[in-house]
Amino acid sequence: MNVLVLNCGSSSLKYQLIETDSEKVLAKGLCERIGIDGSAITHTPDGGDKVTEQKPMKDHTDAVKLVIDKLTDASVGVIKDLSEIDAVGHRVVHGGEKFATSVIIDDDVMKAIEECNDLAPLHNPANIIGINACREVMPGVPMVAVFDTAFHQTMPRKAYMYGLPYEYYEKYKVRRYGFHGTSHDYVSDRAAKILGKSRDDLKIIVCHLGNGASISAVKNGKSVDTSMGMTPLEGLIMGTRSGDIDPAIISFIADKEGLTADEVIDICNKKSGVYGLSDGVSSDFRDLTKATKDGNAKAEGALETYAYRVAKYIGSYIVAMGGVDVVAFTAGVGENDCAMRKAISEYLTFLGCSIDDEKNSIRGEEVIISKPGDKVTIMVVPTNEELAIARETVRLTK
Ligand code: AMP
Repeated sequence: MNVLVLNCGSSSLKYQLIETDSEKVLAKGLCERIGIDGSAITHTPDGGDKVTEQKPMKDHTDAVKLVIDKLTDASVGVIKDLSEIDAVGHRVVHGGEKFATSVIIDDDVMKAIEECNDLAPLHNPANIIGINACREVMPGVPMVAVFDTAFHQTMPRKAYMYGLPYEYYEKYKVRRYGFHGTSHDYVSDRAAKILGKSRDDLKIIVCHLGNGASISAVKNGKSVDTSMGMTPLEGLIMGTRSGDIDPAIISFIADKEGLTADEVIDICNKKSGVYGLSDGVSSDFRDLTKATKDGNAKAEGALETYAYRVAKYIGSYIVAMGGVDVVAFTAGVGENDCAMRKAISEYLTFLGCSIDDEKNSIRGEEVIISKPGDKVTIMVVPTNEELAIARETVRLTK
């Protein structure tokens, strides 16, 4: 089966065409600056060179049409025509409490996704635009919505409720939802498979450390807690997001700096995290590592504070699950930053595990980095959200 996986942002559209029996990526690409001057598509067929074309795309419908053009192109295409796309899998950021699993898209589902827009005003409307564009260009092709929040719907009440007046939960569904669910699901599943064990018998902590970062406690195959909350701002310190802060800081800074609450939240989203902590050096861990080596104390402090926050969350999830068997690192930082993995793992020595430096020097591959016989297995598992979405699409449409 050929599944087209789409991830739509407000002005971008990422795609992969995956042949799901072999799980081979036939082609992938990105449309950027949709609806803005200078829009362009970058398309890479399997085994071929990347091609970039500047082409006006006034909206996502134009972008989807262009993606189909590229996939069926005589020179850079990988399929003959549209009939070779058997289904489409869409990444949808927020499914609220309505979606605890992926679903086939129909009009009722579209309505229900729209009802979640309030909870993710920056993301869900873009996802909906992308789905509508696809339904217009590819009528009759089955489509599936895979939600970032769905995997965490198994969290118990004690993990998802905030200590706020209950009426806000009742009236506005203010609660913790968690994100990166597709990744936490995929990585915990792979971790168990790599160890030759059933996920149902394991306590796994997944550290998804990318530009956005979250951590989850997966007990017997189910997410029982995760660090992101009602929005992806809660939890770990991230590239530019603050993660947990005292909520009273919002009005304090607003008063001092003459800003609105929204403006301070914007700073928490875009100018904080390791970028803010390093006083603007970078949100990229490669730059921070270099700056630290060059003697920049603020960059060093940012990395130190980041590692400490991750370790603290790991500690709390060990308590939440009554133990831990596996800690798995994934996403850009988790897969590639050996020094950060080591800094975090050093906090776990008391659990009876330690890092094998040679194994830990490997980047971007599935590898166990703790030592044989350690009480807790620490490993790296590259995430693959597109493949996870394609698998869900097959499961629901085959
Ligand atoms: P993601 O959001 O998963 O794509 O992760 C992106 C982030 O991963 C970048 O902002 C970097 O901070 C980090 N990253 C990617 N490659 C490396 C690397 N080789 N070493 C350290 N950090 C990396």
